Amino acid sequence: MYGRKPKYIAMFSGGAASAYVAYLMVQKHGKENSVLLFTDTLWEHKDNKRFMIEVAEEIGIERKTLIDGRTPDEVFEDTKFLGNSRLAKCSSQLKVRQTVIYLEELRDSGYEPILYFGIGKHEKRRREGIENLYNHNLLPRDGEEQQVKTVFPLYESNIPDKEIKRIITQDWGIELPEMYHLGFSHANCGGRCVRGGFNHYQHLYETWPQVYIEQEEMENRLREQLGDVSILKRNGKPFTLTDYRRELDLDSEVAKKLNEETDVPCICHYA
Ligand code: SF4
Repeated sequence: MYGRKPKYIAMFSGGAASAYVAYLMVQKHGKENSVLLFTDTLWEHKDNKRFMIEVAEEIGIERKTLIDGRTPDEVFEDTKFLGNSRLAKCSSQLKVRQTVIYLEELRDSGYEPILYFGIGKHEKRRREGIENLYNHNLLPRDGEEQQVKTVFPLYESNIPDKEIKRIITQDWGIELPEMYHLGFSHANCGGRCVRGGFNHYQHLYETWPQVYIEQEEMENRLREQLGDVSILKRNGKPFTLTDYRRELDLDSEVAKKLNEETDVPCICHYA
């Protein structure tokens, strides 16, 4: 800790698990030492904000929202790279970078950040990815290790997801974010996550066709600027949202086969 006072930070994704982890963290370390941290990409669904406010009030924790000011598509334009299932600079610029700036500011003002994540037992790879991510991005300081402490209470416990949702809805009386009820695999970026994969985009098209079309228009705009790029890839090659929508409208064999491909886990989704 190098003489700095610990500051416990719940990395809030908008989901039930990270809300419950924030509660566990406050129980252990006290609300005066704790922060509920959210990075807003400006693509977020409005009900996530309602959920965050109600959770923070319930557990009595201070909220902190970090905003870069750009949306993911503005990042794609700035970096001349359309985010896709393999590489998404929106995540590194709008979420990781903002968080690292905040953590460095905390260290400068005499606090040592300790990060809490709502990652479960079945997510070993994501846990390792997150640990590496923050350690590699924080600045080394004279005579100090670069390590930032990360805590994964759900990784060590056996509390089922169902029980977490029951506690939030029944014991706390808080409705889960609307996107949960609509069957989205995660609630980041209002269903527009560029790492979502074919299943996700099929679900988006069936649930919110207008949002799918907006995403398709964004992709087409970026294609005019950057050439043959796309969010989805088929056999390693660009496969546009327009192409995919046509296959979905036809309920074609291609659409069915593509739908079987699994989603790509998004580093922005802390559960
Ligand atoms: S949730 Fe997806 S679209 Fe949003 S910032 Fe993260 S990678 Fe980008």
